[in-house]
Amino acid sequence: MSSFVPPVFDNGFAGLPETFYSRVQPTPVPDPYLVCHSPAALALLGLPADALTHPDLLHTLAGNRLLPGMDPLAELYAGHQFGHFVPQLGDGRAILLGEIQGPDGRGWEIQLKGAGRTPYSRGGDGRAVLRSSIREFLCSEAMHALGIPTTRALALVGSDLPVYREDEETAAIVTRLSPSFVRFGSFEVFYYRNQVDPIRQLADYVIRRHYPQLAALDEPVPALLAEVARRTAELMADWQAVGFAHGVMNTDNMSILGLTLDYGPFGFMDAFDPGFVCNHSDSGGRYAFDQQPDVGAWNVTKLAQALVPLMSVDTATDAIKAYPRQFGQAYVARMAAKFGLPRAGDSVGLMLDALSLLAANRVDYTLFFRRLGDFDSAPDALNAPLRGLFADRAAFDAWAARYAAALRQTGVPDAERRIAQHAVNPKYILRNHLAETAIRRAADQRDFSEVARLHALLTRPYDDQPEFEAYAAEPPDWAREIAVSCSS
Ligand code: AMP
Ligand code: MG
Repeated sequence: MSSFVPPVFDNGFAGLPETFYSRVQPTPVPDPYLVCHSPAALALLGLPADALTHPDLLHTLAGNRLLPGMDPLAELYAGHQFGHFVPQLGDGRAILLGEIQGPDGRGWEIQLKGAGRTPYSRGGDGRAVLRSSIREFLCSEAMHALGIPTTRALALVGSDLPVYREDEETAAIVTRLSPSFVRFGSFEVFYYRNQVDPIRQLADYVIRRHYPQLAALDEPVPALLAEVARRTAELMADWQAVGFAHGVMNTDNMSILGLTLDYGPFGFMDAFDPGFVCNHSDSGGRYAFDQQPDVGAWNVTKLAQALVPLMSVDTATDAIKAYPRQFGQAYVARMAAKFGLPRAGDSVGLMLDALSLLAANRVDYTLFFRRLGDFDSAPDALNAPLRGLFADRAAFDAWAARYAAALRQTGVPDAERRIAQHAVNPKYILRNHLAETAIRRAADQRDFSEVARLHALLTRPYDDQPEFEAYAAEPPDWAREIAVSCSS
């Protein structure tokens, strides 16, 4: 058993008035067991890698026991869900236990997702199932390793407590970490209630705790809005560049810190398809892959609207008007890096043509970019591994000739370019079928080794890991049958 010294809690959010949350205790689960944990996330809190071998901590992360200083609560928020405003949502199954400061001075809020009913559960059971919790755990840590802003996952605890969805499943609880879980919807709820004071209080709190550099400005709230808009634009560029679809970009799932938040029916694209819809419940394709940047912009306007009581409409409009440019610049910069091309000149046309070819040939997005790093720019090179991904070889050859010429013009030696490209084009992503294999083994056989293997693999997504070559391959045929929906 590890020597575990309970950390000191410093609960910023619980210091706000109860307008913003409800105090609530987690509901215990029977016989919790550890499914997986993230040593890197434990280190953020200054906890040793073996901290979870201590039963006190395991029971805490199951929601069965509190540590001294914890002050559990569920946050209130509203949100636009699939375009429609829902006046009250809130943490229906997530419970914030408290906040602790890591060894580097950063504060981390610790939240249990799936820890039982809260005053905001509406008709829900307050639980999460093992299947979706494994996906959230793996994806949070994988996104972080990819360099994409995200909430983190500390651990995943399971229990045999039955949970009823389409079928009977079992419960699980993900411990999530974030500097803050405040969402756009945390502001919207008060805007629609015509309550200006809480909007101001929450904005002041977010600025003081999370954007201290803005606090001294004459007008910190418009600056906050502008900064959230910028971070959101950058996040959308990150998602688009890596081929990630969130699935449920409701404003209650949009982080005030610009983090990827609330992993549900997300998906990484296998074959490139701009219209990719990862969420089975999204029949209208509102949150299709290629819609995400615009949805991000729309969501930012909803945040702006909720902040208008603190500024003029013109000021709010001004604060977010840079979003399209910021997204465009960020996206082009990321794509240029993926292609190993300069950002200007003919590159954009070359990149767009490649994306059209990928779509027409249903080429695997991740494999394409990884192999592009190995591209030989010599005039007579065949580039067979890359070429083999395309059904239309002639179209590929024509594009490849233009690409090779553009690369030669940069004067960067292929070997050097390869290193730079491999550093931005991941070899390993959390493909649906990989998650599914790990989930089946965990759910059917209580064998968590595949979850651990995937977690370890995905913490080094840019490194060649020869023993895991199969994890970089295109999905098997059965992967097409996997459906992920909002029900989790
Ligand atoms: P999500 O789509 O998971 O972001 O959730 C949307 C809203 O529904 C949030 O307010 C959640 O807290 C709530 N919710 C989702 N699942 C459950 C559940 N099983 N029990 C209670 N509330 C839930
Ligand atoms: Mg949510």
